[in-house]
Amino acid sequence: MTNVAIIRCEKNMDRCPLTNCFRCLAEKKEGFSIYEDCTLAGVFTCRCPGDILNNLAKILKAKGAEAIHFCTCTFSKKTAEGWVMKDGGFCENIDKIIENLNKETSIPCVKGTAHLPKDYTLKTW
Ligand code: SF4
Ligand code: SF4
Repeated sequence: MTNVAIIRCEKNMDRCPLTNCFRCLAEKKEGFSIYEDCTLAGVFTCRCPGDILNNLAKILKAKGAEAIHFCTCTFSKKTAEGWVMKDGGFCENIDKIIENLNKETSIPCVKGTAHLPKDYTLKTW
């Protein structure tokens, strides 16, 4: 059983209660399909410019999180054709932010949770 945490973007915190993120985690689908079994360790909200993330990650680690997933809406957008990578999502620096977080805290990170775009291969650090 892997304890996974989710970090969402503050730009979406009043619009989406993570419904599909939680559903995919419970069903081990989309971004969580890499686990044989997983459970939720906690959720935090990133705030621009993202410099609180290292502290949030350390708290999540202390609470038992073994991996941190970043919500798909941070790098992907919903269109009439479904979720696409084109034009990105809420965060233009998401790769740099995740890379830095992984480097500073050594916590495995995964870019993606629910409704992964068709042309996207799950990226991990
Ligand atoms: S990835 Fe989807 S379900 Fe998760 S917070 Fe973003 S919009 Fe909501
Ligand atoms: S740094 Fe990126 S993920 Fe964090 S709140 Fe800002 S836009 Fe969202």
